[in-house]
Amino acid sequence: MFAGKSAEEGILTTAGLSDQGLVRLQNEDHWYADAEQGVFIVSDGMGGRVAGELAARIVIEVFPSYIVQQLGDLHDLTTPVATDIVQATLVELSDLIYKESSKRPDFFGMGATLVLALIRKTHALIAHVGDSRAYLWRQEQLIRLTKDHSLMQTLLDLGQISPEEAASHPARSQITQFIGMADAIVPEIQGFALHSGDRLLLCTDGLTGMVPDDSIAEILHAHPLPEQACRQLIAAANAAGGKDNSTVVIVDWVGGA
Ligand code: CA
Repeated sequence: MFAGKSAEEGILTTAGLSDQGLVRLQNEDHWYADAEQGVFIVSDGMGGRVAGELAARIVIEVFPSYIVQQLGDLHDLTTPVATDIVQATLVELSDLIYKESSKRPDFFGMGATLVLALIRKTHALIAHVGDSRAYLWRQEQLIRLTKDHSLMQTLLDLGQISPEEAASHPARSQITQFIGMADAIVPEIQGFALHSGDRLLLCTDGLTGMVPDDSIAEILHAHPLPEQACRQLIAAANAAGGKDNSTVVIVDWVGGA
């Protein structure tokens, strides 16, 4: 957990927290938050005991400095150029982890989800691969920014399953895209202008699988400090059973203009 601030064109206050939960024997989630560079990531590893944790760790250790370097002085994250850069770096990251997974049999199938928030000046960019999510809390409304790359979401889109069935389906954790997969990934990327008072939430499915969106909204409403909100979200996931690792990053943005 940490909180940081950067005063260049807006003030960012951030916190993150990860918890093993009550059932899993280890935590394969990782998170990263750098208010100065405006880079925030949540990643959920998969592929077995050693490999899953490693994949998510590679994501948060390799990606932040690389994306900062690739973006250079580009400040308007809503431009197509920014989208292209993020797209290309995520594809490279996925290829890198796939190559690592091919080197050792015990790393076979290693991968990780990624949800990324970039913030520069008055713009944000959100990208994701997998079922870790980004939400925007704006004017007391919770807006889900990402659509899970999951089998359940595909079946929901096709109208073949109800949300209630999806929540209890045996294959509910099956994802259709991840960083490190053999096929090329197609990250979803969106840029938008920030409003003063915006709060971003990045999280793994260990939260959203246990805590419904309206309860998440209540916690974000009740806890103006990011650290407190993170603690309460994790506590809610564990109070609901804590069946998975749960990880959250919150970013509060207050603009000058
Ligand atoms: Ca998970």
